[in-house]
Amino acid sequence: MSDLILVLNAGSSSIKFQAFEAPALDLLWSGQMEGIGAAPHFMARDAARHILAEWRGAAGDHRAALGIIIAWLKGAMAGRRISAIGHRVVHGGPDFAAPVTINGPVLRRLEALAALAPLHQPSNLAGVRAAMEHFPGVPQIACFDTAFHRGHPWEADSFALPSEFHARGIRRYGFHGLSYEYIARRLAAEDPALGRGRLIVAHLGNGASLCAIRDGRSLDSTMGFTALDGVPMGTRCGRIDPGVVLHLIQAEGMTPAEVVRLLYKESGLKGLSGLSQDVRDLEASSRPEASLALSYFAWHVRREIGALAAALGGLDALVFTAGIGENAAQMRRRICDGLGFLGIALDQKRNADGAGEISPTGAPVKVLIRRTDEERMIAEHVQAVLTAGDAVAA
Ligand code: ADP
Repeated sequence: MSDLILVLNAGSSSIKFQAFEAPALDLLWSGQMEGIGAAPHFMARDAARHILAEWRGAAGDHRAALGIIIAWLKGAMAGRRISAIGHRVVHGGPDFAAPVTINGPVLRRLEALAALAPLHQPSNLAGVRAAMEHFPGVPQIACFDTAFHRGHPWEADSFALPSEFHARGIRRYGFHGLSYEYIARRLAAEDPALGRGRLIVAHLGNGASLCAIRDGRSLDSTMGFTALDGVPMGTRCGRIDPGVVLHLIQAEGMTPAEVVRLLYKESGLKGLSGLSQDVRDLEASSRPEASLALSYFAWHVRREIGALAAALGGLDALVFTAGIGENAAQMRRRICDGLGFLGIALDQKRNADGAGEISPTGAPVKVLIRRTDEERMIAEHVQAVLTAGDAVAA
């Protein structure tokens, strides 16, 4: 019977999982435990997204939540073996440019990076520790959202601060790397010439960023030291003059915790509209604030497309992905309107239909929609690590 690769994505109050059958990497099951510590809710689905199990009850922490996931998995696995577990870890810091097998020293290095991603890294690692306890002896492999960006040129990677800050890890790391790598690999498989070309991938979901990719490698990205930078998001502000943060603390007396809450949770589409962080709600609303928030989002995404096209020295394809990128036809139209000078145009019917290619046939820049799959990217990495016998830490 075939082995399984389990992929875990542990957030602050949820653990999502997917189980793939090796070596073909067919998806068997996906699911999540949400509301850890509050109102836990477990759900598991098959590959066609039919619900196989649902449960509400007590799961006070990540360890208990994973215990419930594992209890369900053990029943479903019917004697199969888990050959490795892949973990989504947001931050690999300056050193980890590839997936790595987690042992004690690696775990300590990843824990030391928690200050760089305080909202994500501790929960990611709580998931790792829980999995190590439940599955001693099973390889645990960390896959990083930052790793795909580690080859950025120094100019893209640095802030114009005294150079010792770069050495101390204060750099522009970039995130959503597993999504970008997945899209870059799929495009290269579909069309090798395009895969070697100049691409901008717009990962527009609750979290949103864009990445310039040349020859399959990340050249620059809109997110920086944290996942706050770049374009506005559901509840995050995106690029902001650091002077605003200084002003809020020094002149308005806000505490650092209040500023963190403002910039991460109360800004972006939610803050601008005062209504919702969800593009669907804003599109359904007749309130002028909703329309302004959508137009602000499109403006700033458009601006970053221009900046990244300049970094690439031209553009061969623009790819939309993630919740907004894959589904919001009106938003794609708003973003692309006015980008004709770059050779970007939309076929409005194809865009409304959500076709794979939404630019007119023969257009100088292909505009594409592709579904991202970060979990599958992790499963592919895990399989490669198992095949290679060990992971490589840069
Ligand atoms: P996350 O970053 O949490 O993974 P997703 O990539 O799932 O987020 O994106 C979620 C967002 O996608 C929603 O908040 C909503 O704004 C947007 N979205 C999803 N479906 C649609 C749709 N059909 N039309 C417009 N926007 C959509």
